[in-house]
Amino acid sequence: MTSVESAARALLIERGGDALEDLTARGFTRRHVLRIAALVTAALPLGSERALAQLSDAGALPADAVKINANEFPDGPSPRALAALAEAARHGNRYQYPETDGLVEAAAALEGLKVEHFAVYPGSSLALHHAVIAFTSPSRALVVAEPGYEAAGLAAAFIGAPVIRVPLRPDAAHDLPAMLAASRKQPVGLFYVCNPNNPTGTVTPRAAIEALVAAAPHDAVVLLDEAYIHLCDEPRGVDMVRAGKNVVVLRTFSKIFGMAGLRAGFAIARKDLLARMTPWNTGAMPATAMAAAHAALGEHELIAARKRANAERRNDLMRFFDAHGFRYTPSVANHLMVDARRPAPEAIAAMKQRNVYVGRPWPVWPTHVRVSIGSAADMERFKTAFLEVVAPG
Ligand code: PLP
Repeated sequence: MTSVESAARALLIERGGDALEDLTARGFTRRHVLRIAALVTAALPLGSERALAQLSDAGALPADAVKINANEFPDGPSPRALAALAEAARHGNRYQYPETDGLVEAAAALEGLKVEHFAVYPGSSLALHHAVIAFTSPSRALVVAEPGYEAAGLAAAFIGAPVIRVPLRPDAAHDLPAMLAASRKQPVGLFYVCNPNNPTGTVTPRAAIEALVAAAPHDAVVLLDEAYIHLCDEPRGVDMVRAGKNVVVLRTFSKIFGMAGLRAGFAIARKDLLARMTPWNTGAMPATAMAAAHAALGEHELIAARKRANAERRNDLMRFFDAHGFRYTPSVANHLMVDARRPAPEAIAAMKQRNVYVGRPWPVWPTHVRVSIGSAADMERFKTAFLEVVAPG
């Protein structure tokens, strides 16, 4: 080993040690440190859309199933992304680290940020977990909306951080003043805001998010999950990163880009915030996913066309619900919640018997099921099955 290598190795060991000592200093018990270790090595099927969809539906789905239970996009990677992926695969014997750099440089140019603002992840689930580990602790709570995407709450509960759950407002936006008020009663490390929200597909207005960021305790972070932002016209949160706020934006290629199985995503934040998240990151990313994501980033026309097509299918579904008197959330994304007027697990099971997979249940809204927007053909089969399963109102 050269002296440079051994110095680098010592530095890595020191960083790892520092990261572990930091956990103890922040009040995590030995048991919780072990749980964090399990979480960061992804040894647990905890809190990703795939895992959550699978948990509610163990086993492989039939090939001809209508699979609208995981908010995936019905179209796969674009032809350009596929070509880039194949090219990266041809050089699969090499680690290809520069692929990650190329992706970050392209994304930074696109968003008007610096490369230091980006940490690359294999999808955004792991970034979400790392944010929970970095910013919450047994004495610093996570605040989430309910119903919301469960991953952050599951991770926080697992590592021993308190979780405060604040119901959505009647219009299904996050109740950000109530989420902020929670931080006046006990120390809060992280506010999780998913915009548009999963499972409701609803928007939380930008002005409310700005107000939360401005009024949040100075040492709390707002985690703005933008997994579905490309599907709607809402303002993006990256300008708050540019302005140096305590905001971490999450992005994924799993939705409009059609790459859920390829695994690529970003955490976008101030350098010091990313530094607190990334001691837990292992670094190397699959070159195939990096190359495909890089190729897809700038495909504005394709993204716009997919957004339009998804909106048409969503509007059609909403017209169907209106025509039959079903209540649903006013979604701008590729999923919504509909009131099945019977216990959600029952409705989901009855749909499954018709080879249509929806889900999953959110116990706080016990009769609602989440429906992802699939292809036009998927949605026709969904409608037929839904009318058989749920009596029109
Ligand atoms: N955040 C939200 C709100 C999601 O709905 C999902 C997946 O459905 C994710 C994050 C994580 O997805 P991935 O790990 O595939 O990027």
